Amino acid sequence: MTSAPLERSSPPRPSNTPHRRVVSDAARVDVPAAEVAVRALLTALGQDPASEHLRDTPRRVAAAYAEMLTPEAFTLTTFGNDEGYDELVLARDLPFQSLCEHHLLPFSGIAHIGYLPGSRILGLSKLARVLDCFARGLQVQERLTKQVADCLHQSLQPKGVAVVLEAAHQCMSLRGVRAHGSRTVTSALHGLLRDNAATRSEFFALTGVGR
Ligand code: ZN
Repeated sequence: MTSAPLERSSPPRPSNTPHRRVVSDAARVDVPAAEVAVRALLTALGQDPASEHLRDTPRRVAAAYAEMLTPEAFTLTTFGNDEGYDELVLARDLPFQSLCEHHLLPFSGIAHIGYLPGSRILGLSKLARVLDCFARGLQVQERLTKQVADCLHQSLQPKGVAVVLEAAHQCMSLRGVRAHGSRTVTSALHGLLRDNAATRSEFFALTGVGR
């Protein structure tokens, strides 16, 4: 199982490293092979892939999966925390989407990502980039949550990290229990955001999780 994005550079670097490349080792999508497979799937589903309406569908589906499963590598640039800012930094309501590895159906929602700075701080857009990088793969929500938290914990070495994802899963709303409108909440906490009750409560109060 190599489809989930993982960080390649496993040993944590010193927290004074300003540029850290985040590279996913998500499997490469073989687009022509995916087109052949979609054509076979249509046939297996009793459809005629040669019909006028479906002729272009294999190409479109393969391209859509290639886009959803190909993460963009990026550089996680950090800056010295020269002002000694030591309060919570929180990005709230970051939209994300991913694909459930059990049904190949999308799940999507919002993320709240917070950290307590140590000696380095991060460009705020990078929180969304980390999330997007790990979301582009076949995932389960629990693993995605943990991968984002672990990546920030290792590359930024902050005093604490907290990641909460709230998502609706199409495999729960379109089939099976058909639980329309239900949202699944997962969290992963490190450092003071896990161990200090006051800091943890502040994070959850600011995110509004559990409203
Ligand atoms: Zn599913």
